[in-house]
Amino acid sequence: MTTASEERDPVTAFIGVGANLGFSRDAVLNALADLSRLPSTDFVASSSLYRSAPVDGDGPDYVNAVAEVETRMSAHELLVALQAIETRYGRVRTTRNAPRTLDLDLLLYGDGMLKTPDLVVPHPRIAERAFVLTPLIELAGPVVIPGQGRADTLVARTTDQRIERLES
Ligand code: AMP
Repeated sequence: MTTASEERDPVTAFIGVGANLGFSRDAVLNALADLSRLPSTDFVASSSLYRSAPVDGDGPDYVNAVAEVETRMSAHELLVALQAIETRYGRVRTTRNAPRTLDLDLLLYGDGMLKTPDLVVPHPRIAERAFVLTPLIELAGPVVIPGQGRADTLVARTTDQRIERLES
């Protein structure tokens, strides 16, 4: 039996937001506003905005941020809601790491670990990406990424990735 959202205890989740096509900064700010309106979910905080070089891809620099929410949605419900927001921004799925108008990733869902065909939590590439770890640490401090270690230890291995905090 599945549990209805209103019966579930709230779970702290972290969502990565990134864009590198068009008005990237506006897309990220608007997406953060969209996240604050998710059903069965309270918006807790968002990180600063960062500019980062594309990792394993090309195109313009990314604008990135991380949002923290408290949600009664299941991890899958949350993924579906994130994909609906991406679609509204005209995200077209082409090749992996292709430039995108908006990318939303479910980074952490409580201390849960999940591996299904369409959802892996913690996000599979979280541990090697400065553009996720840096804003995550700004929000959550030296948080432990289940199965991978402490975010501050992991970020020390990403110093070759260019990332800068944008002034607000
Ligand atoms: P990407 O191109 O990086 O946005 O990857 C999108 C694909 O990754 C989708 O098909 C999702 O079903 C899948 N996926 C697996 N785990 C996650 C996750 N934790 N957050 C977002 N997408 C995920």
